[in-house]
Amino acid sequence: MTTWTHEFDTPAFKGKVDFPTGVFIDGKFSNGSTNQTIDVINPTNGKLITKVAEATPEDLDRAVAAARKTFETVWGLNYPGLERGRLLGKLADLLEAKQDEFAAIEAFDNGAYFYPYLFFSVTDLAEYRQDVQLGQAADLDMSIGTFRYFAGWAGKSHGKVIETTEDKLAYTRHEPIGVCGQIIPWNFPLMMMAWKLGPALATGNTIVIKPSEFTPLTALRMASLIKEAGFPDGVVNVLVGYGSTVGSAIAGHPLIDKVAFTGSTLIGRKVMEAAAKSNLKKVTLELGGKSPNIIFNDADIDKAVNWSAHGIFWNHGQACCAGSRIFVQSGIYDEFLKRFTAKATSLKLGDPFGVDSYQGPQVSQVQYDRIMAYIKSGKQEGATVHLGGERHGSEGFWIKPTIFTDTTPDMKIVREEIFGPVGVVIKFEDEEDVIRQANDTVYGLAAAVFTQDINRGISTAHKLHAGTAWINCVNQLHPQVPFGGYKQSGMGRELGEYALDSYTNIKAVHVNLGHEI
Ligand code: NAD
Repeated sequence: MTTWTHEFDTPAFKGKVDFPTGVFIDGKFSNGSTNQTIDVINPTNGKLITKVAEATPEDLDRAVAAARKTFETVWGLNYPGLERGRLLGKLADLLEAKQDEFAAIEAFDNGAYFYPYLFFSVTDLAEYRQDVQLGQAADLDMSIGTFRYFAGWAGKSHGKVIETTEDKLAYTRHEPIGVCGQIIPWNFPLMMMAWKLGPALATGNTIVIKPSEFTPLTALRMASLIKEAGFPDGVVNVLVGYGSTVGSAIAGHPLIDKVAFTGSTLIGRKVMEAAAKSNLKKVTLELGGKSPNIIFNDADIDKAVNWSAHGIFWNHGQACCAGSRIFVQSGIYDEFLKRFTAKATSLKLGDPFGVDSYQGPQVSQVQYDRIMAYIKSGKQEGATVHLGGERHGSEGFWIKPTIFTDTTPDMKIVREEIFGPVGVVIKFEDEEDVIRQANDTVYGLAAAVFTQDINRGISTAHKLHAGTAWINCVNQLHPQVPFGGYKQSGMGRELGEYALDSYTNIKAVHVNLGHEI
């Protein structure tokens, strides 16, 4: 059976990792049914890190059977909510104790920055920790916080007594849905896993989760932690496989009760179709975006510049809520562009373990090629490459921070999600003009507005068609606050109390207290 052993020796993290990388079903690791493996590639240099077991639809059948049995006999309605919360809390503690190891694995596998995203000031680990305490949570802290937050909900998701008539008692129960299939992307591998597991476990469901085939390592490491935390076998099953095989089999599986998908709108549509055609399983989707970031004349320019750069270059542009369309009012357009260009130029592309690195590589050759094709299309359609637009270095999948200007609304780089460090800067005249342009998209994930006039900030935020609207900030995520999309950016919400709805069935119980017919 496959395992991964590696000795990290970086200034950021020194230590050995050694854990099984098989398919994780019913609390045990094993080879996949075909004994095939999937190559895991280091995006900084394109070299092989390790090979992990490839799961297949046959493995999925085994995992679903285990999840079903555990749901009906051990977990589900059989396991007290407070106990589920205790296990989730334990998982949060274990993850926290190993957070440097997890950050190192993620940096190696995904190219994520080890000192997660302290854009404004990070110079050393101590400072990073201090910023975390101040609430600047990054993906590891978000993952730990998400488990902790949902641990708190595990004993609290309950129904209501509803008044009807004196001779009747009516009440609701929030029951778990059953076996949930969860499919996640590669951009924040661990954090996406936490967002999915937290609410599903808190509400008593069992899970078959498929991480992205590009970034499976933290999910496999988590499988060992889930076991160590004491979750009963079969509650969480982890299958690394390809989307076209295991992913589509999850969406179309007749014995899976719900599918939760995070990924592209293209695949989300397929997942919904397969869910409808199989057993009409419940579906939640977290999909792509082309989020507008609006800067009015009265904004604090330096702050808007910093946030806007964070908006599009955080995680190398591989964020679903990336502020990729930057609308700047005409009065400050030239000055903003000058300072924004200087900020983007100052971002250091470098080793994800480097203390002063900001931007790492794109996750894979496929993504690199896709982004470069968008850059080419922008040039061909007549936009100006104001900054970047080319590869960085000679190996791996690095792309320089890129800014386009002189765009028109019909260009592909303005309409489609690029999912890389590529922003378009667009001039606008007035509020009506920018709201029309901002909403002129099939997406509706997030939006941001910068102004010192709070009334304008709030009224603009209310007019934007997006599941999240930030005022004078971007990319702010908290376990307590719901996240999800309008329009083709998805359906349902992750995080916050709202996420519980996606993992519960509401049962209404009517008790006759003497009513005769
Ligand atoms: P993707 O859609 O290519 O893949 C996502 C997952 O789906 C992967 O695990 C993949 O293996 C699987 N998959 C692929 N084909 C499948 C199929 N036919 N049936 C079922 N599953 C299949 O997306 P990606 O490239 O991994 O991630 C990038 C996308 O994810 C972007 O569009 C981004 O905006 C989106 N995203 C959205 C959110 C959000 O919360 N809205 C968060 C992160 C990423």
